Amino acid sequence: SNILLGPINKINMFIESYPKGMAGFKRYVDFLETEPEIADRPQAMAIKDIEGEITFNNVSFGYTEDKRALNQINLKVRPGETVALVGPSGAGKSTICSLLPRFYEVNEGSITVDGIDIRDFKLHSLRSHIGIVQQDVFLFDGTIRENIAYGDLNASEEDIWYAARRAQLEDVIKALPEGMDTLIGERGVKLSGGQKQRLSIARIFLKNPKILILDEATSALDTETEQAIQQALNELSVGRTTLVIAHRLATIKDADRIVVVSKKGIIEEGTHDELMNSKKAYYGLYTAQFGLQI
Ligand code: ATP
Repeated sequence: SNILLGPINKINMFIESYPKGMAGFKRYVDFLETEPEIADRPQAMAIKDIEGEITFNNVSFGYTEDKRALNQINLKVRPGETVALVGPSGAGKSTICSLLPRFYEVNEGSITVDGIDIRDFKLHSLRSHIGIVQQDVFLFDGTIRENIAYGDLNASEEDIWYAARRAQLEDVIKALPEGMDTLIGERGVKLSGGQKQRLSIARIFLKNPKILILDEATSALDTETEQAIQQALNELSVGRTTLVIAHRLATIKDADRIVVVSKKGIIEEGTHDELMNSKKAYYGLYTAQFGLQI
């Protein structure tokens, strides 16, 4: 399910870095003010630079009191490592990822970043270190430039073009009659699904967070678009601690580590080759997805 459909949603996430009163944005601000807030602890700190080490220590969580979505999750991710979460639908992959930016609070255990409990970061500071790419891209009525800058008033023209280039969007933008000034959204040019995806990737290149969460597309785009996006995502994850919610196993073969999540918790982890050789859960998922072609 969608990791951002929580009590604090993507609009809320966006708003944090968005100057109030900017054109076209007022209604989202209004919306935000009706949302519950997760309060900072009194001693919460703004932490500027992080390495990006993530640890889940015996984390249990339920959306409701009577049903646990996560049971005793232990996971340590090294700075810069790419970890793919795989497992059946409902196993808790998205939930693991939504706890990290604190869309929900853990019920038991703790999550740390660089050894610091995420509840001891100011929420804004914690989220400044996390970039999220998912299928549903949130665009607002404005220019391409504004949509890439996403509220970052310090972004220079050069930074924005750099981000567009890294996200494989440069040619697309240059081919538009008004380039970066082209209006998109309800009253402007409609971007294709793949272009929206790349725009969201450009935002993250610009934001440059140390931690990345990739909620992988469930359905295939056309091959060319998919390759462009995969290329952009591969580049984006370099030097960032990356959690990939994987639906299609072909795309995560090269992950540093694959973690198999089930309703019982983490049941297996290793590289693709290790897990294929051990012929257990991952092997089962993989052969089910690819038939006997392997
Ligand atoms: P999928 O591959 O289908 O995306 P997943 O492994 O990401 O699944 P989660 O979406 O994390 O699994 O779901 C874990 C459990 O939590 C499931 O039982 C699911 O029904 C439940 N769940 C997920 N989101 C919510 C929510 N917003 N409110 C209540 N229950 C939820």
